[in-house]
Amino acid sequence: MTLRYGSTRGDAPPLDFADTMLTGLAPDGGLYVPASFPALPDLDGLERYADVAAAVMWPFVEGAIERAAFERIVEDAYASFDHPDVVPLVPLDDRRWLLELFHGPTIAFKDVALQLVGRLFDHFLTERGRRATILVATSGDTGSAAMAATVGRAALDCVVLFPDGGRVSEVQRRQMTTIDAPNVHAVAAAGTFDDCQDLVKAAFADRAFRDEVQLSAMNSINWGRVMAQVVYYVTAARAVRRETGAAPVFSVPTGNFGNVLAGWVAQQMGLDVAGFLVASNRNDILTRWLETGTLTAEPVVPTISPSMDIQVSSNLERLLFDLLGRDGSATAELLREFRAAGHVDAPRPSGWWGARLDDDATRETIAAQWARHEVLLDPHTAVGVGAVDRVEGLPDAPVVCLATAHPAKFPDAVEAATGVRPALPAHYADLLDRPERVEEVAADLAAVEALVRRLVRPAA
Ligand SMILES: *Cc1c(COP(=O)(O)O)cnc(C)c1O
Repeated sequence: MTLRYGSTRGDAPPLDFADTMLTGLAPDGGLYVPASFPALPDLDGLERYADVAAAVMWPFVEGAIERAAFERIVEDAYASFDHPDVVPLVPLDDRRWLLELFHGPTIAFKDVALQLVGRLFDHFLTERGRRATILVATSGDTGSAAMAATVGRAALDCVVLFPDGGRVSEVQRRQMTTIDAPNVHAVAAAGTFDDCQDLVKAAFADRAFRDEVQLSAMNSINWGRVMAQVVYYVTAARAVRRETGAAPVFSVPTGNFGNVLAGWVAQQMGLDVAGFLVASNRNDILTRWLETGTLTAEPVVPTISPSMDIQVSSNLERLLFDLLGRDGSATAELLREFRAAGHVDAPRPSGWWGARLDDDATRETIAAQWARHEVLLDPHTAVGVGAVDRVEGLPDAPVVCLATAHPAKFPDAVEAATGVRPALPAHYADLLDRPERVEEVAADLAAVEALVRRLVRPAA
């Protein structure tokens, strides 16, 4: 059976999985979602992560790719992780587990989705005799994950713009500038992250340029990313059930809402989940919404968990669409009102909680977990772990805290809280000594377009 995908705003022609992936945003401005949620398959006898992953994702891709080819791609994607369990679940204390999502090439959770999505893009483009240029603006994590997902992919080039005057840490910059591959390019743009984002948006809006270099995005609204993240909710819930006999609460450090939305999808597919705890830093629109029922935009403030410095979480639209009875025009209307007024009353899911931690509380959590358990948490993971102690009314269930980055990705924050500087994993041991390769560009659309034209490989 071939699953079709439609827009959350209800006004775009349905597509199959491959076209959904390659299209990104729907033409009506909405996000693609499956016409219905398939049931979780029978996983009896499946133990290896890649085997579970192929089985869980198959109903989403069936009809767009051969089963054997899909299994090969999944196998290959997760062979890039340096832990045999891919996403190990480790006990933290008598109630909490850490689901370590940072064993991929760039030591943050975006690898789990992008290692797969890069390979799927390459497969579908090659099949169609096409190529694409992935253009990304990054404040840190997304850039290196997109580059690592593109290395070695024949149909893809990748250009990442990061702010030269921004808050990209040395580790994050070097993760981008030390990749030595002919089809990926790190570019330092004059200005801030917002400048980079505006330049990328303007390049996408330039239709002639977009067609000329076949611009494409792999951002967190891409359904393929959500789909890949569903898998670890399934593996973690299964492992917790084996240990405790109970269904877990998931505590999820949240920015663009892609990660926790994948948990919602897993639950809609039949996974037994006791609740979701949405953990925010001071950019707490989601916590306020879960407390009051109103979405109210506030200016973004910088924190020590920068990948969560987001106010308007794009993937929230997919949850709202489900909560509005999958009514596209009601979803479009609600979002229109939100954009116009800056606030809107929005339905809330039951069994969800929200909690916020400011930077002091985040540092306290990092320090406390180090003192008690000799575990180093990165600041994003710490927001999720600390949220469990700060929320009222959570069910008395085991809690799985999603660990979204390796502590060595944010060594300054971790060292400030604990006095210990976390060591990089083996494959990055010499990261600080590797030669850097970086292009520079003015914050100017014509300059960026000229650079991209020069960097991308000509079509074969
Ligand atoms: C991207 C990111 C997040 C936020 O995930 P969303 O899917 O955007 O909610 C949290 N932590 C880290 C380390 C990230 O890179």
